[in-house]
Amino acid sequence: MLRIDTVVENIEVGSASVDIIKQAARIIKSGGLVAFPTETVYGLGANALDEAACAKIYEAKGRPGDNPLIVHINEGFELVRLAREVPPGAQALMGAFSPGPLTVILPARPGIFAHGYGDTVAVRLPGNMAARLLIHHAGVPIAAPSANLSGSPSPTTAAHVLADLDGRVDMVLDGGACKHGMESTVVDFTDTVPKILRPGAITQEMIANVIGKVEIAGCGEAAKSPGMKYRHYAPSAKMTLVIGNPASVSVKILELLGQSDAKKPVILVPTGDKALYGEAPIMLLGRRIEEVTANIYAALRRIDELGHDEVFVQGVVESGLGLAVMNRLRKAAGNNVIIV
Ligand code: AMP
Ligand code: MG
Repeated sequence: MLRIDTVVENIEVGSASVDIIKQAARIIKSGGLVAFPTETVYGLGANALDEAACAKIYEAKGRPGDNPLIVHINEGFELVRLAREVPPGAQALMGAFSPGPLTVILPARPGIFAHGYGDTVAVRLPGNMAARLLIHHAGVPIAAPSANLSGSPSPTTAAHVLADLDGRVDMVLDGGACKHGMESTVVDFTDTVPKILRPGAITQEMIANVIGKVEIAGCGEAAKSPGMKYRHYAPSAKMTLVIGNPASVSVKILELLGQSDAKKPVILVPTGDKALYGEAPIMLLGRRIEEVTANIYAALRRIDELGHDEVFVQGVVESGLGLAVMNRLRKAAGNNVIIV
């Protein structure tokens, strides 16, 4: 039987939320699956040191077996239990941004994991209090990908988790909407120069300020982070992403809309550019890039919930946080991208 329990954001010692989290921790310890909130997206967690428990994650999500899992740890966890070595740059970056939306890839200690990790391990120390308490009470590192069916948009609310995984998970901790709404920045420290494999809320500029040189992995390097090669985050509706200055993009989208034979098309638009679309059917994404980021996955899910069969998306400026948003939108569009 699926359990859904609500945990509040500022958890106090001895509160009901702590009791609920302790129950969730017992499920993790006994080899079960718990979906839980983090500041990025909801995670689907299992004991990272239990091979059979991790196998359940792949089964529940329908996740390809070659796509490794991020291991979530707590403050005070000795990284040498997972990693053969922690390069100074990784230490500095974790010092600056952990707990938070940062994942570092390190050379793995041999023989710890069996699930497609190869000889590297991805580690993150989440900032969300419920997530941290869950890891603390479980007493083990928790392997957790996003708590969605493989290929669909990442979940930013407990309702999204349920829509995908009801019947496939032992318990869902409901901590409300996720603060960032975008998966962690993944930085690889197993090569000569640190490389961003997946952009996120910790931007290239923020990373460069701490460790100096950092590269962004090109499309050809998808094999480094297996998850990046699959179509991802996609609604069922046909999706076209249009990139350029907002005025030209709106002209192009309205032209495409006119030619479309979709029954119920919709346009995703940053709120500030709403006026460019007149009476056309639009869905607003929010004004600031932080809002757009937090809303994007819920919007992609809403397209299907409302029965839209085609969606046109106005791209955002591809720098800072916008780089992460566009990275996900390109994948969601299956590279059906028009530049004007
Ligand atoms: P998610 O599936 O939403 O948790 O995303 C996890 C991302 O981190 C995927 O793109 C994975 O391929 C990537 N990842 C996890 N572990 C590793 C690793 N050891 N090396 C490279 N990428 C990894
Ligand atoms: Mg995912």
